Amino acid sequence: LAICVSDDTPEDDLQVRVVMRNCGHIDPNSITDYLAQDGYMGLAKALEMTPQEIIDEVKESGLRGRGGGGFPAGRKWESCLRVDADQKYVICNADEGDPGAFMDRSVLEGDPHSVIEGMAIAGYAIGATKGILYVRAEYPLAIRQLKIAIEQAKERNLLGKNILGSGFDFELDIFQGAGAFVCGESTALVLSIEGRRGMPKPLPRPRTSEEGLWGKPTLLNNVKTFACVAQIIHRGTDWFKSIGTENCPGTAVFALTGKINKSGLIEVPMGIQLEKIINDIGGGVAGGRAFKAVQTGGPSGGCLPPEMLNLPVDFDSLTAAGSMMGSGGMVVMDDTTCMVDVARYFLEFSLEESCGQCTPCRAGTEQMLTILNDISQGKGREGDIDLLVEMGEAIIDGSICGLGQSAPNPVLSTIRYFREEYEAHIRNKECPAKACKELITY
Ligand code: SF4
Repeated sequence: LAICVSDDTPEDDLQVRVVMRNCGHIDPNSITDYLAQDGYMGLAKALEMTPQEIIDEVKESGLRGRGGGGFPAGRKWESCLRVDADQKYVICNADEGDPGAFMDRSVLEGDPHSVIEGMAIAGYAIGATKGILYVRAEYPLAIRQLKIAIEQAKERNLLGKNILGSGFDFELDIFQGAGAFVCGESTALVLSIEGRRGMPKPLPRPRTSEEGLWGKPTLLNNVKTFACVAQIIHRGTDWFKSIGTENCPGTAVFALTGKINKSGLIEVPMGIQLEKIINDIGGGVAGGRAFKAVQTGGPSGGCLPPEMLNLPVDFDSLTAAGSMMGSGGMVVMDDTTCMVDVARYFLEFSLEESCGQCTPCRAGTEQMLTILNDISQGKGREGDIDLLVEMGEAIIDGSICGLGQSAPNPVLSTIRYFREEYEAHIRNKECPAKACKELITY
């Protein structure tokens, strides 16, 4: 199990456990342990409500999808409910692929029943009798824990036929994804389950909630979203809304990594300032060095400078600042970090993971990477920075899925906040960050 950065220390006051409430505290292979923590109380309560009442609760709670986009979960559930179909599906997206991110894996490994319970509630609410957990094959422990938990839930009549005598049937299967980052996109994920190549469908296309797996209405949510649902139903919307902000209730889970004294998984209320995460929870920059930037949102996000340390951490604030919440990666950088190298690293990742079907994403990111490589090798030219910005914006506009639409973000954000560092590489043939100096060849 991944370790949370703090335990029984004063900085724990800044952390609130909702999604990870049981991780590390219960035996994930014991349904009895989960039941003792009010497990499946949310499902039992939900089965006494009407589907619309459940969806109203989810809407009222303000829960937003934790996969990165922050779309209101209740609205998605409602659009699934509204479609008339003989079969509907619930899919849990556990295709976590951001470099350095392991939040979903930790929840599946440490508290699999919380996700299963949330999916069963979702199935009842939208009228689905089948659910699929789409889990990366690289997560063997998570898959093992889920298999055990599913069998235990069946034995207790919490999955399967006529759950708790309610007349509601819900089966759950696991599908192992082959590790393609782009399969986290909803239409690609659905195609992947259908046995086809995981490529996002071009626009215009029907929403997955209306026409998803095998052409049927499909509710697709992230691991952390489902892990919140049972508690919202059990403890009520007022409780959930008491955590976080008005527009983003609840918590955010981050994998805090990089040049930080205490790295690991953290769970914080939405709206907490970046500075509190880095200095109070993470113990500040490692080795006593100066803070330079923090990257949120992995390859889809951006780098934020010291001036942004008082930024509240929520979906809207991070997007407005040129970054993203993403699914929860948070990398801290010190003053020895070369921002051109950071941009190169994330862009290269997106290029490798591009499915290649649209030209701006396939060819544009490659051309941007060529320019970045030239800049970092002392071969940058005047005009390269403006060209990178122009190309980045064109890729965002011309790509059909979120991977391409966000791939330029690390480049654009580092240019926005660290433009002088690019200029130093181009004009002076040197990197102001110490760690990069030897890397440049002339
Ligand atoms: Fe594929 Fe990139 Fe186009 Fe998305 S934007 S469909 S990953 S080529």
